[in-house]
Amino acid sequence: MAYDPNNIFAKILRGEIPAKRVHETEHSLAFHDIRPLAPVHVLVIPKGAYVSMEDFSAKASAAEIADLFQAVGEVARKLGVVESGYRILANAGADARQEVPHLHIHVFGGRPLGPMLQRAE
Ligand code: 5GP
Repeated sequence: MAYDPNNIFAKILRGEIPAKRVHETEHSLAFHDIRPLAPVHVLVIPKGAYVSMEDFSAKASAAEIADLFQAVGEVARKLGVVESGYRILANAGADARQEVPHLHIHVFGGRPLGPMLQRAE
């Protein structure tokens, strides 16, 4: 999938639409999801133009990759879910129902999160 520079997260990165920012570094940005599925629901994204984790892992620099994962840990600490627990998730492509074509890692927490996936019938 080609990167679409007009996706909603690219617009957030350019400051064209607002977001409730949680954490920002040279290479990464974290902000609250607009339709939270848990008391803590934050999205952590690289600032670079990457569609998915596969695209990011193939093309990003070691510094960008380290920075993104450090940002996830920092978000968990800042939002106070380290003790209670949290879940991270990154959807990619149609089967995962990725909605926004810019890599994002969801950080969920603040309540028991239930089973990881429903079993297919
Ligand atoms: P996906 O399904 O691609 O893994 O998740 C996309 C997420 O982006 C959804 O949880 C959705 O609520 C969130 N989202 C979509 N548009 C916006 C927006 O304009 N601002 C913010 N903060 N989150 C958004």
